[in-house]
Amino acid sequence: MRNNKVVAADARTVTVLGATGSIGDSTMDLLRGARGRYSVVALTANSNVDALAKLAKEFGAQFAAIADPARLGQLKDALAGTGIECGAGESAVIEAAARPADWVMAAVSGAAGLKPALAAVDRGAAVALANKECLVCAGDFFMQRAAKAGACILPADSEHNALFQALSSGNREELVRVIITASGGPFRTWAARDIEQATLAQALKHPNWSMGQKITIDSASMMNKGLEVIEASYLFALSADEIDVLVHPQSIIHGMVEFSDRSVVAQLGAPDMRIPIAHCLGWPDRIVGPSARLDLAKIGQLTFEAPDFERFPGLRLAYESLRTGRGATTVFNAANEVAVAAFIAGQIRFGAIARLVEATLNDWIRGGNLAPLSSADDAISVDHNARNRAAALLPQIALKAS
Ligand code: NDP
Repeated sequence: MRNNKVVAADARTVTVLGATGSIGDSTMDLLRGARGRYSVVALTANSNVDALAKLAKEFGAQFAAIADPARLGQLKDALAGTGIECGAGESAVIEAAARPADWVMAAVSGAAGLKPALAAVDRGAAVALANKECLVCAGDFFMQRAAKAGACILPADSEHNALFQALSSGNREELVRVIITASGGPFRTWAARDIEQATLAQALKHPNWSMGQKITIDSASMMNKGLEVIEASYLFALSADEIDVLVHPQSIIHGMVEFSDRSVVAQLGAPDMRIPIAHCLGWPDRIVGPSARLDLAKIGQLTFEAPDFERFPGLRLAYESLRTGRGATTVFNAANEVAVAAFIAGQIRFGAIARLVEATLNDWIRGGNLAPLSSADDAISVDHNARNRAAALLPQIALKAS
């Protein structure tokens, strides 16, 4: 028994990797609002069987994959009698990505998202990319594979989506620089000594965006903006010197591109992830989105500040690792993940997050470990080893006061 969906004969086929997460939820919401125009091929999750099975039934998916192999029986039971095929384990998530769908949302979190995204890239799909690790951990290699397969990478992150839209106003030779905006997070106006001592509850109070815990803490440290600078570099083949960050507390302008004639083209919108995702979903056309319309008269004013690399050293470290290359951005990301987990667990102070990232990067470089990454396994191995280095350095960072 399948659901009672009505799908147009020319419906676009779509797959959502990480369908049960925050980005997945926004994507499914858009698909729900455009019933009949999209036909769901596959949906995936890590362990949330109930939510995955519910979505698979609601959208009449052909295939549902759960990454946790121990949950296959549970998923089979939940989908019994529906005719929806299912699988479990990493290979099933990769199979979901490899099944023929015109458009794939890559929204698995963490390094686990790399291989499934590559499976979609390799068959030349249009891939809406939310997962940061594909670019931060394996950017060169990932973009080369996409070019080789003729896959179209559609940036789902709001800042990169803004740049993607603005870049179409000129060509590469005419581009001077891109500008990524940052809200500045909850500690934008705080003194360095207060940021050092910030609590988890304070770090989780993002002024504008509603997101998961890890990315919210990264916004507070501005590590997230650093990750976005790295992503922009790989996505659009830009040097570190061609990417600027501008603090813009209202989060209305998401990205801008400056061209040689001094025109600056910006993309604006309410801080709602459904806007960039809708752009990816409709591309190359536009769909009718459910988000609130932008009312600039009501907002009143848009303000801007230069970023402070002293109070937010994570941003400086991101630029340094981008300039270093040869796996340094993979190390930057891995060390940050270990540091954030340690902060959440109460093992280190907020200010020690950047110190652990810096210590890990220095240790990695001193150890002569820098080398170009040429495969997904290379990237995953550097990610794994850098996490171990960061974990080994953690106790001494935890003890050291600023
Ligand atoms: P969530 O943690 O909300 O969701 C992650 C999704 O991936 C869930 O469906 C989860 O399944 C699944 N998943 C987790 N681990 C694995 C694994 N090992 N194997 C397979 N599937 C797994 O993350 P977000 O939606 O917030 O973010 C997804 C990606 O998008 C991240 O890389 C993030 O940095 C990026 N991003 C997010 C933004 C946001 O606004 N949230 C903005 C821009 C980028 P389950 O539910 O079963 O755990």
